Amino acid sequence: MLVTGGSRGIGAATALRAAAAGWAVCLTYRSDQAAASSVVAAIERAGGRAAAVQADVAVEADVVAAVEATTTLGPLGAVVANAGIVGEKTRVDELTVERVERMLATNVTGTIVTCREAVRRMSTAYGHGGGSIVLVSSAAARLGSPGEYVDYAASKAAVDTLGVGLAKEVAGEGIRVNVVRPGIIDTDLHASGGQPDRVARIGPAVPVGRAGTADEIAAAIVWLSSAEASYATGSILDVAGGR
Ligand code: NAD
Repeated sequence: MLVTGGSRGIGAATALRAAAAGWAVCLTYRSDQAAASSVVAAIERAGGRAAAVQADVAVEADVVAAVEATTTLGPLGAVVANAGIVGEKTRVDELTVERVERMLATNVTGTIVTCREAVRRMSTAYGHGGGSIVLVSSAAARLGSPGEYVDYAASKAAVDTLGVGLAKEVAGEGIRVNVVRPGIIDTDLHASGGQPDRVARIGPAVPVGRAGTADEIAAAIVWLSSAEASYATGSILDVAGGR
């Protein structure tokens, strides 16, 4: 299994859970090699197999190399396109083209290129054995994130549509494609978007009364990647505490 952005947060939780479920996991990191290495070490301590590869999903050659590296662990059976960024809280009239382009390059183009490479390495049309792709979107895709980051919400709506279309496109080639839409999850994403208090502020207003954990999202991703989910494709699964 390949997990992009696997050094922390939802990606790290997914790598740990997938390894516990028996997957050999290749996780990518953009810059934090130490964090990625500690996830690999934790997997190996528990008896699993893992590797970490530096790859910026906004750089096409990096994605190609990361998928290639994953195949050294065995045939590619699953890909989790998780890497994503959120911008600082900004109204539309303050948005810069630089910020929007950086967000789209990571959240949309990076996810599309990850899917392209996954299909080339998993499709029965290329002589491979099929597999699963899970795209990590966001509840923002349906909520729209007014007053916070409508550009991020739009990028995640693109991820949803990509998942629905791709699922149909490759269904006959042994590949299932599903989308997970996390709600508000307690990770460093919010601090990197300049809102370190966001989980404490919004968590209590979620219908279940709290923010989710990275592991609660990982559980859904690993299930969708498993043979247990053999009839699930083209689904968009909200894991958002009712939000
Ligand atoms: P996080 O910031 O903790 O982790 C994001 C990971 O993606 C990091 O490992 C980061 O290095 C990596 N990444 C970012 N840009 C990258 C790039 N260009 N190339 C390679 N890696 C890159 O955030 P998280 O909460 O774990 O988010 C994971 C995914 O879940 C993201 O796609 C995010 O949009 C989505 N999501 C998160 C929440 C939430 O509340 N935390 C809610 C909805 C959706």
